[in-house]
Amino acid sequence: MMVQTQLSDLLRERGHRVTSQRLLIDRFLRENQGHLTAEQVLAGVADALPGTALPTVYATLELFEELGLVRRVQTGGGTMVFDARTEPHHHLTCRRCGAVEDVEAPVELAKVLRRARRAGFDPEHAEVVVSGLCRDCRG
Ligand SMILES: [Zn+2]
Ligand SMILES: [Zn+2]
Repeated sequence: MMVQTQLSDLLRERGHRVTSQRLLIDRFLRENQGHLTAEQVLAGVADALPGTALPTVYATLELFEELGLVRRVQTGGGTMVFDARTEPHHHLTCRRCGAVEDVEAPVELAKVLRRARRAGFDPEHAEVVVSGLCRDCRG
């Protein structure tokens, strides 16, 4: 319940309404750490939130992204997944089945960010996405 209280405070602080949809979607994301599509999130909250439509789920996930609660990851197959793990880490994505996995490795991104700034870009986030075929799809 601690997390729910924090989300309520954060939403109010930033001038957003606290709704049961937002609270339940947040709880679902925390309970199912991993890389979830908006469709999976919708399926996960459908029982508790009957009548919720996919655009609402997308809008909520986009709001959470703006608040720094989730991070968007583009998969090899072009699908978008949302990651509740927000500290810096990198991803492996399968271009065939769309599987997404975390990969732990120290990566020096400072030079890339420096070049980005030099090009007049304001970088907000950088990570390495390795695309290819996963273990299952290689078989
Ligand atoms: Zn695969
Ligand atoms: Zn991740």
